[in-house]
Amino acid sequence: MVRYSKRKPGIVMIKNKKLVCPVCDNDQFIETKAQMNTAAASFFDLDWANKEARCFVCSDCTYVYWFRS
Ligand SMILES: [Zn+2]
Repeated sequence: MVRYSKRKPGIVMIKNKKLVCPVCDNDQFIETKAQMNTAAASFFDLDWANKEARCFVCSDCTYVYWFRS
């Protein structure tokens, strides 16, 4: 289960590089926080998966980048 908090899209810089969507070449992303539930954490067998992650959703095609926080 992923929860999105809506914000205005903008350019995202990661490690001094501009984030660009690999699908549609868009550079506008909406930053969200996603909470992965316990079921997902067990499924992937990852401790951090039960925590919050930073996500950047492409404002055009909705492709999602995930960053572990
Ligand atoms: Zn896109």
